[in-house]
Amino acid sequence: MSNQKRKVKRHPPIPKSCRFCGSEVIKKSNAEFYGRLIKGNLYCCTNCDARVGIHDGGSVPKGTLANTEIRNARKHVHALFDRIWKEGWLSRKEAYKRMAKELDIPSQECHIGWFDVPECRKAWKAAAKIYREVCSR
Ligand SMILES: [Zn+2]
Repeated sequence: MSNQKRKVKRHPPIPKSCRFCGSEVIKKSNAEFYGRLIKGNLYCCTNCDARVGIHDGGSVPKGTLANTEIRNARKHVHALFDRIWKEGWLSRKEAYKRMAKELDIPSQECHIGWFDVPECRKAWKAAAKIYREVCSR
């Protein structure tokens, strides 16, 4: 039996080149990127508008590199999904567990920041279903 096989990737790889246009991806501070005083850092493409935030105090990306379309799709999912736990229907952890179950993926892979547009569509539908269910209890 090999432990290697069961090893789970806990975060997406640090992007070195853009998955949309192939150009170099660099790390920048949010302040430098946005031209405003925002804490934190991000990875951004040197050619197109693809980017992803970095978890505080390290180099681990918060998700996969996203273009505008994907960023909007993720925001759309968060807007609905976050209500499930922000309104107190479920704990945040429980909400993610339910979402993973609906999407039929392991819960350690259930991060909206890892989803592309088709996955976001499924996730939005799943969130809507969960929301309906918890509200009608
Ligand atoms: Zn790019």
